[in-house]
Amino acid sequence: MTEKKWVYLFSEVEQAEKYAGSWDGVRGLLGGKGANLAEMSRIGVPVPPGFTITTEACNAYQDIHDFPEGMWDQALTALKVVEERAGKKFGDAQNPLLVSCRSGAKFSMPGMMDTVLNIGMNDETAKGMVALTGNDRFVYDSYRRLIQMFGSVVLGIDDEAFEEVLDEVKKEKGVKMDTELTTADLQELTAKFKQVVKKVKGFDFPQEPLKQLELAAKAVFDSWNSKRAIDYRRRENIPDDLGTAVNIQTMVFGNMGDDSGTGVAFTRDPQTGEKKMFGDYLINAQGEDVVAGIRNTSPIAGLGKDLPEAYETFLEIAEKLENHYHEMQDVEFTIERKKLWMLQTRNGKRSAQAAIKIAYDMVMEGFISKEEAIKRVTPEQVDLMLHPQFSVAAKDAAKKEGRLLATGVNASPGAAVGQVYFDADKAEQMHRDEGQDVIMVRPFTKPDDVHGMLAAKGILTSEGGATSHAAVVARQFGVPCIVGASMVSIDMNKRQLTSNGKLVKEGDWISLDGASGEAFIGKLDLTTPDVEKQTELMALLSWADDISRLQVWANADYPKDARRARSYGAKGIGLCRTEHMFFEEERLPYVQEMIMNSEKTQKMLNNLGALEAALKAGRREGRALTEADRKALEAEIAAEKKQIAESKGAKAYFGALDYLLPQQRSDFYGLFEAMDGYPVIIRLIDPPLHEFLPSMEDMLTEVATMRALGQTEGLAEKEALLDVIMSLHESNPMMGLRGIRLGIVYPDIMKMQVRAIFEAASDATLKGIVAKPEIMIPLTGHVNELKLVQPTLVQIAKQVMAEKGVEFEYKFGTMIEIPRAAVTAGEIAEVAEFFSFGTNDLTQMTFGYSRDDAERNFLVTYVEQGVLPLNPFQVLDRDGVGKLMKMAVDDGRAVRPNLEVGICGEHGGDPSSIEFCHLVGNNYVSCSPFRVPLARLAAAQAALRHR
Ligand code: PEP
Ligand code: MG
Repeated sequence: MTEKKWVYLFSEVEQAEKYAGSWDGVRGLLGGKGANLAEMSRIGVPVPPGFTITTEACNAYQDIHDFPEGMWDQALTALKVVEERAGKKFGDAQNPLLVSCRSGAKFSMPGMMDTVLNIGMNDETAKGMVALTGNDRFVYDSYRRLIQMFGSVVLGIDDEAFEEVLDEVKKEKGVKMDTELTTADLQELTAKFKQVVKKVKGFDFPQEPLKQLELAAKAVFDSWNSKRAIDYRRRENIPDDLGTAVNIQTMVFGNMGDDSGTGVAFTRDPQTGEKKMFGDYLINAQGEDVVAGIRNTSPIAGLGKDLPEAYETFLEIAEKLENHYHEMQDVEFTIERKKLWMLQTRNGKRSAQAAIKIAYDMVMEGFISKEEAIKRVTPEQVDLMLHPQFSVAAKDAAKKEGRLLATGVNASPGAAVGQVYFDADKAEQMHRDEGQDVIMVRPFTKPDDVHGMLAAKGILTSEGGATSHAAVVARQFGVPCIVGASMVSIDMNKRQLTSNGKLVKEGDWISLDGASGEAFIGKLDLTTPDVEKQTELMALLSWADDISRLQVWANADYPKDARRARSYGAKGIGLCRTEHMFFEEERLPYVQEMIMNSEKTQKMLNNLGALEAALKAGRREGRALTEADRKALEAEIAAEKKQIAESKGAKAYFGALDYLLPQQRSDFYGLFEAMDGYPVIIRLIDPPLHEFLPSMEDMLTEVATMRALGQTEGLAEKEALLDVIMSLHESNPMMGLRGIRLGIVYPDIMKMQVRAIFEAASDATLKGIVAKPEIMIPLTGHVNELKLVQPTLVQIAKQVMAEKGVEFEYKFGTMIEIPRAAVTAGEIAEVAEFFSFGTNDLTQMTFGYSRDDAERNFLVTYVEQGVLPLNPFQVLDRDGVGKLMKMAVDDGRAVRPNLEVGICGEHGGDPSSIEFCHLVGNNYVSCSPFRVPLARLAAAQAALRHR
């Protein structure tokens, strides 16, 4: 039987592969770092020689608390080979080999396990190294570092014990930085560190290099079961039985004179993605000097002058590594006496811009497939490309200066800098009249704040959550927004806010980062990327479209938003919230007029309808009509008609509708024009009517004040308005008279809207535009609602097309946003030609959480405490809401196989929710125009993941 192999030289990767069966197996056996070092050796990259003790040895060690049989002998044999290759001897006084001993598990666990450098140094080898390098300062600096590292990592001495001594010595010498210590100081420190070991452990720092190595390797194995490593594994779901490998590798030194050096570099520019070497180096220095920024480094190209041969080799190797891994590499190298060594290579971290450019370029260079390019960019990176940004450095600096004002829910990404205003009118006015950049700060927003929100560069609210009005509207318009910043307290009287012990007055400057949910005092510098010019991004997204099964549509109310959505790649409009147009300044009075007179007029209309129905049926109150009854009934009908015709209220009601019709027609025409050839889903009125009227509290105060002051002018109108507001008041308006219920109680509004839509679509068709209207009826909960409302609307559609003499494709469908609708989707699909999941309401009603209040009151705590894994208003809850969606799609399609299914809630722009929509078989997702690009990428990634 051959002996179990516990140790692999870096050059034995083939054997490792044979044993482990696959590259994944090699990573499991040798750890990620070991596998990578071996791989570099295999492709002929100069790596300081070394070997790896396997994870299997680690697991065996854990069982018996000792090295398994044969392992140490194998390590010593490997060390001999390493000595030969390095041309140095471990523990030799003249030409000593020093090694590092590092952990390396299959999956990277940064900083969780132990490392010891400079192993092999002792009093004798230190002298030898001084003779070799002529750099006694470096030698004693390395020696004292070994004692400290070995002392704390291997011997378990509290690091503080060494730090205290270091502080004492520095104080004594009157210096602040380690670098200011002289050689003599470092020698003294080395001696004192040895005393620490002796004092705490009762024995001397081991001078025997092999003992150092053995203990260091054991310490690395032990660190696999340290508390922090175990905690990390739990969090990252890394199994405990993987074990860590130990890498023992020759130390090389870049500080052996002017023919030595060290550096770090990226094979492409990590900021811009440009294909050119990017990095820094130092002559006669150690790696950590570059990283720590102790000395001023030089741009990598300068190495071509200083050490031309090594530089040439470096460029060749960097290219080789990139070609091998087909990824931008982040490499570390050291040149020891003109000889170049590669110490590390890994995939380089990069900015969003660089990620996109590199992925695109690598496809063009033939390195990777389009699919691979799409996998390498994240939706968040795409998103970042569309919004102005603050640099991390600017934010860090602001935090250091104590300028962090507040944190809240990151509702809409992007960075904004502006002057604070506390109401929509003022915000709009300061922007319009003074040309100011404004930030609107409110407790929360309502539809009548929209003009201020549109004028604002950013929005901050102290209440509300991810699907609150402020969040939804801000995202839709691409305005950076933070909501639910509960530490912000707004004093409307003093027109100021306080937060985190800071005071901000109206007109003061603040900066918002909508992507991180952080607000800062003062102005932070901004950078704005130009989307249209980003040809690489555009190309990448068009590849994504070829791969996706899901289409991406957009939520847009206005033609300009639709045009933007189209230019960002939207293939339709998934939601036009028509009521937003009702809030426009010149229209709102007519909307209010309509509402003020709706109840009375509707009563008359209902009366008339009942009388006419009785006449038609020939029965009234359960009896057949006599001739006399019929006559009387006809007279009643005539009287009712006359009353309606003469009623001021009814006139105002129909007058308002007549005013609104052409307005809406032109809104819709603009949308059809912008989306020529693509479907446009227009949702009929959804919100409760009271939202279009002033708040009850304000009106009560106003009327009471007028009465108290004896002001009579205009009082009667205000009182009438208050009456209507009170009659419309509901305790739970979100569950009240809205959506399709309005369509049943006040049918004329929806009828007017459908007429406007079809007139617009007809006009557009006559002009050669391909209009594809889809009429969406909101908030259906029972099929009977739809059966009552939809046929009348379809009738109007047909009538308009007949009047105009045109025909075009159209659909009538509904939103699925009430759990009952999802559960009875089979019945609903018999009437509705399409479904669109309104997951804002569906989440609200499935959880029973108010979408406007939950975050402020408990939802943030729920997520923090792990009651819920994520905020369900941001990321779709697959187990609950998602189950309802799946049921609705399956049951709906069972009845109507070609049922069109989409989503238009805020989840339509969230990558995980998009993936779920792919899985349940949606036709499209619809999101705000600014999220269209990221959604296109996410849709393709979902398709690739679930091929
Ligand atoms: C929804 O409920 O998901 C939806 C899109 O409608 P709204 O947000 O307008 O209620
Ligand atoms: Mg809704």
